[in-house]
Amino acid sequence: MSTYAAPLKDMRFVLNELAGLAEVAKLPGYEDASSDTVDAILEEASKFASEVLDPLNYSGDQEGSIWSDGEVRTPKGFREAYRQFCEGGWNALPFEAQWGGQGLPRLVSTPVQEMWKSSNMSFSLCPLLTQGAIEALLLRGSEPLKKAYLPKMVEGKWTGTMNLTEPQAGSDLSLVRTKAERSGDHYLISGQKIFITYGEHDLAENIVHLVLARTPDAPEGVKGISLFVVPKLMPNADGTPGKRNPARCVSIEHKLGIHASPTAVMVYDKAVGYVVGEENRGLEYMFIMMNAARFAVGLEGVAIAERAFQRALAFAKERLQGRDLVEGRTVPIIRHPDVRRMLMLMKSQTEAMRALAYTTAAAVDFSNRHPDGEIRKRNHVYVDLMIPVVKGWSTETGIDVASLGVQVHGGMGFVEETGAAQYLRDARITTIYEGTTGIQAMDLVGRKIARDGGAAAREWISFLKKLDSDLSQSGNADIKSLRPQLAQGAQAVSDCVDFVVGTKDPRAGFAGAVPFLKLMGIVAGGWQMARAALIAEKRLSSKDGDKSFYEAKIATARFYGDHVLVQAPGLRDTVVKGGAGVMALSDEQFLAA
Ligand SMILES: Cc1cc2nc3c(=O)[nH]c(=O)nc-3n(C[C@H](O)[C@H](O)[C@H](O)COP(=O)(O)OP(=O)(O)OC[C@H]3O[C@@H](n4cnc5c(N)ncnc54)[C@H](O)[C@@H]3O)c2cc1C
Repeated sequence: MSTYAAPLKDMRFVLNELAGLAEVAKLPGYEDASSDTVDAILEEASKFASEVLDPLNYSGDQEGSIWSDGEVRTPKGFREAYRQFCEGGWNALPFEAQWGGQGLPRLVSTPVQEMWKSSNMSFSLCPLLTQGAIEALLLRGSEPLKKAYLPKMVEGKWTGTMNLTEPQAGSDLSLVRTKAERSGDHYLISGQKIFITYGEHDLAENIVHLVLARTPDAPEGVKGISLFVVPKLMPNADGTPGKRNPARCVSIEHKLGIHASPTAVMVYDKAVGYVVGEENRGLEYMFIMMNAARFAVGLEGVAIAERAFQRALAFAKERLQGRDLVEGRTVPIIRHPDVRRMLMLMKSQTEAMRALAYTTAAAVDFSNRHPDGEIRKRNHVYVDLMIPVVKGWSTETGIDVASLGVQVHGGMGFVEETGAAQYLRDARITTIYEGTTGIQAMDLVGRKIARDGGAAAREWISFLKKLDSDLSQSGNADIKSLRPQLAQGAQAVSDCVDFVVGTKDPRAGFAGAVPFLKLMGIVAGGWQMARAALIAEKRLSSKDGDKSFYEAKIATARFYGDHVLVQAPGLRDTVVKGGAGVMALSDEQFLAA
């Protein structure tokens, strides 16, 4: 089995050349994020990912987490890896120094997180959920709550969970029924939550559950949901974990993938909880945090695609089968044009997704810290527009890429020994949790495009048009060929924005929402690949840096244009035809089928 090696060259290229690390490092509080420091962080993270996390990925999948009498045992090696992870300060990387963190920009924590997700997605979910819970507390927790929980959680000694889902409340959280009854300075929480990632495990000394619940007098629907902190063990006055709170894991799920990550059914039976922020505003707080969580899951799509590509490439170089079309001798399958096509599809889409994710991460940093309020606002609007695209497109494409990885392996991809199948199984959840692709697409079409009359989307289209004039200056034939493809893509997005804004029938707008999201992703990826190709051309002409890398970047961008970006007009047609027939059959016709 091939070992994971972080794609450091591409990560550095995207960070420095596309996402503007130097500009991010000028933002107040981010001065430490110099190129050298970031390089050192990436090197160290890459070692940890390759040497500690990657070797546990396959065995973790085979063994899985195991539930017994309310306790969950994670697979062999996970406890030790988590201890090293925390001791290395990795858990604290994205958080403020005030709470024991390293205060690095989102742009820097993004490639590091990509490495955790590529090398061991199941493991990475524990710190990811802890991060979500920390952000909720930072956002609206009272000072005593912050003091009691944040230092331990930032250090990683205590982990966090997000308890939203209930059997009857999945995509629609207005149906949450868990109860919270006031009792002095706290609340008593009762109800059942399902699908809770790392709801119970043996990695840390305590687990801090963030739970959505309703108080008895709360209004119906989304306006009556509050957010509570419910620790597994009640903290003692000295900060050590004390008495057991009745918040119990009654079972864990048997799943298609991410076997090492325990997915818990939690029962709260008058468990002590503390409200976060104000009553009835829980879902609002969740929505504020949602961008971060959705971005993180989008990054899982990038990460799994990268890992699947690396494994497929290693296999294709070794597997001897078939004869070279010109020389006639038996060759490794990487010599066959169709295998190359699959590998190029994997590589080009992964690079496009990475570029979109990292540039979005930089926009998050600008939206939070830029001294100019107008720039903060514009970046904020851009991030809001792109989050459902990063989440929906990268995860859907991540599955496609992982599936291609299986195909490159032939029959060996369908059996478990090579590990290719695991990536496909693990990737499959990414389009479901943190809001399914359908929910992301409805968010894109409804909240991000129709609501502002298409203004944010048109601003983005203007960036594409600006790039067109840069492309027109290129002297490289491969780069020039991207120009009409990108122009066509921009036109396709523009037509769809007009359709969505103009349609009076919400069903027609939503029927084409997922194809529209895919179109946005494909064009945004093409935009970044074209930018990358132009920079590569510049570096090649100044004979500056890694010639082979830059030549490959241009060739990869060209391939992306010819194989992926060309899909834009077809997707446009589907969208502007109101989803092209998705509502054509009556319910009776479906029943008769
Ligand atoms: C492994 C795993 C880990 C998870 N971890 C967590 C966690 O840590 N915390 C947590 O709270 N939850 C977690 N979840 C739950 C996850 O977020 C939900 O499964 C997800 O939100 C979808 O909800 P659902 O499963 O009820 O599907 P449903 O909401 O029933 O959706 C079923 C289908 O209908 C579609 N659909 C639903 N509503 C609409 C609509 N209005 N318009 C169009 N289409 C619609 C969906 O897109 C989907 O295709 C996890 C789930 C899994 C499987």
